[in-house]
Amino acid sequence: MTDDDRRTQLADNLARVEDRISAACAKAGRPRDDVELIVVTKTYPASDVRLLAELGVRQVAENRDQEAAPKAADCADLPLTWHFVGQLQTNKVRSVAGYAGIVQSVDRARLVTALSREAVRAGRELGCLIQVALDAESGRQGARGGVAPDGVEALAEAVAAAQGLRLDGVMTVAPLAGPYAGRQLAAFERLMEISTDLRATHPAATMVSAGMSADLEDAVAAGATHVRVGTAVLGVRPRLG
Ligand SMILES: *Cc1c(COP(=O)(O)O)cnc(C)c1O
Repeated sequence: MTDDDRRTQLADNLARVEDRISAACAKAGRPRDDVELIVVTKTYPASDVRLLAELGVRQVAENRDQEAAPKAADCADLPLTWHFVGQLQTNKVRSVAGYAGIVQSVDRARLVTALSREAVRAGRELGCLIQVALDAESGRQGARGGVAPDGVEALAEAVAAAQGLRLDGVMTVAPLAGPYAGRQLAAFERLMEISTDLRATHPAATMVSAGMSADLEDAVAAGATHVRVGTAVLGVRPRLG
């Protein structure tokens, strides 16, 4: 495929996703600019990120540092905010703190400590979302990362108190197991309750990141401020990621 063909394909896909977000906002009685699109570019090349930026995309997300770090470096001249949305090992934190604007997968105290240290070292402020695992029991981690709902407040306090970090809100991935399996709308409504509780003590933590290609309408209906869309913009991923 030529660059021009790919650009046309991405533009068409973006327009379709835009229509879906607009329709979902209208149905929910929300203004369109309540919801921001983050394009998840994992497994796709820097050349696609460049085309997306030319088409007006300003927020992109990646879930593996090994892939994201070189891609972000390739695209350092573009006006993009990079979101990190994958499970994050502490030994990758220094690298991630070099390019990410927002880490959406903050789910344990040790990660907060490491992110703070590396943000300060890099002289950057990192936005943080607490990743909530709606399938995790009290005191446990979720299967795909995240902290159980009753651990959100303590972790949020740790982020708010940490140098170099900014508490921006909450994120979830709809669970595949447990009481919310197959019930995306209910899951995202639960995340909104958690967000409401959090904003009572941290009013600036307004971001609610929920919804992917298959369930962005449910996320918008529940009140999400950010949707993370990969497949519907870039195509079905060639491999797991
Ligand atoms: C891959 C990924 C997405 C995007 O998923 P699609 O189904 O391709 O839209 C969103 N959020 C996270 C955390 C992801 O890893």
